[in-house]
Amino acid sequence: MKVFVEKGESAKTAERTEFINAISFCSDKKNAVDYFVVYKLDRFARNQADHITVRQTLKKYHTELKSVTEPISDSPVGKMMEGILSAFAEFDNNVRTERSVNGMKERIKQGIWVWQAPMGYCRTEKGTNLTPHPTYAPFIKTIFEEYAKGIHTFDSLAKYVTDRGFTMKNGKPAIPQLIEKIIRNPLYCGRIKVWDIEIKGKFEPIISERLFDQCQESGKRRPKTPRLAKNSDFPLRKLATCEFCNKPLTGSKATGRQGQKYPYYHHHKQNCEHAAFVPKAHFEQMFVEYLQEITPSFKFEESFKAIVLDIWKNNFKKFDEENEQIKKAVSVLEQKRQRIFDLHQDKTYTDQEFKDQKNLLDDKIKKHMNLMHEKYDKEFKMDAALEYCFDFVRNTASTWVKLAKKPEDRLCFQKMVISENVQFSGNKFGNAKLTPIYNLYQQFLLDKSQLVTLPGVEPGLQP
Ligand SMILES: [Zn+2]
Repeated sequence: MKVFVEKGESAKTAERTEFINAISFCSDKKNAVDYFVVYKLDRFARNQADHITVRQTLKKYHTELKSVTEPISDSPVGKMMEGILSAFAEFDNNVRTERSVNGMKERIKQGIWVWQAPMGYCRTEKGTNLTPHPTYAPFIKTIFEEYAKGIHTFDSLAKYVTDRGFTMKNGKPAIPQLIEKIIRNPLYCGRIKVWDIEIKGKFEPIISERLFDQCQESGKRRPKTPRLAKNSDFPLRKLATCEFCNKPLTGSKATGRQGQKYPYYHHHKQNCEHAAFVPKAHFEQMFVEYLQEITPSFKFEESFKAIVLDIWKNNFKKFDEENEQIKKAVSVLEQKRQRIFDLHQDKTYTDQEFKDQKNLLDDKIKKHMNLMHEKYDKEFKMDAALEYCFDFVRNTASTWVKLAKKPEDRLCFQKMVISENVQFSGNKFGNAKLTPIYNLYQQFLLDKSQLVTLPGVEPGLQP
């Protein structure tokens, strides 16, 4: 092991003597360097072009790049991309529903659930039907069983399961809206009910139909939770908060002298000195301007795609190598298996011995096959997936404007851009908690070299 320390110079300065020395050390075959270990990737390359060239140079010398603080090979980027892409895909799915209805209907009629698995179910493989989720399904069952007793409201039931270790996918405690959604979902008893189709699904239900029906009547009455549709006139209601008092803004219509309605956004209670009534059109125009401001530039898009693809491909290379090893092991096992047949034929093995040995080997082969990485599908689609994702990202503002006629889609889209709230200062939006792609763009604007730290972003971020 040899250590190179760049003293007093950051990776950003032009002369990085030690860095260059380190690279040339790797280039010397005599040194046979397997790994180039860096503390953090942003120390390693100044920008993404650098990152890729240096990485390729190292590859040429058969040296692999490793980061101490960022697991490159586990590719959090891959995980993050998966999260982002699946969210965009889901959104797109909703939007396109009308167009692809026929194809979907065909599959549904075969008893297959074609959309994302609801909590409690999962898919063992892409494109397959639902399977009960090992962790969540028992909770779903508990929720129904408890609710059927008629002693719970959705609120109390949310608390009941949370106390017993249930958390939502984001790790937060259960909310009553989720409980209601679960109780009302016939999918849990195996019934598919969409459009004009009502059919028994060809997957294992989590609860019985009887229990489901029972739950539709039981439970303590409580005021219904407000529906999404209430937001349709004021999509930014609750999303926008006052920069000064942090209160969420709401919307309502004032009536003019001639009885005309004027829609406004405003504070709910007006004890903030910045509380004001802002006409809806003006307010939403400012929001569109903000969306334009946070829309990633072409340059960012290019860099982002290049890095993700680079890492993605590297991962596949690793998978390929591992698969190759597994294939070799399997072929050895298969030869052994053949030998057992031969020994049986020669009567060296009794029938029982033969059976035992064969089962043993079959089992081993199966276990090995399960280790194979199934990934060609993903590999094939990565470019397209990125392109697809950026189709939305690139047109953030105009997509939002276009969705005016589809309020539910619009709210869903907003969530894909802004993960929590956006602050309103009275004449400008800002400081939103953005979803990963947009957030990275903000970092990119602050310091262009930040993009090379992409592999260090938190894994499993869900937009
Ligand atoms: Zn305020």
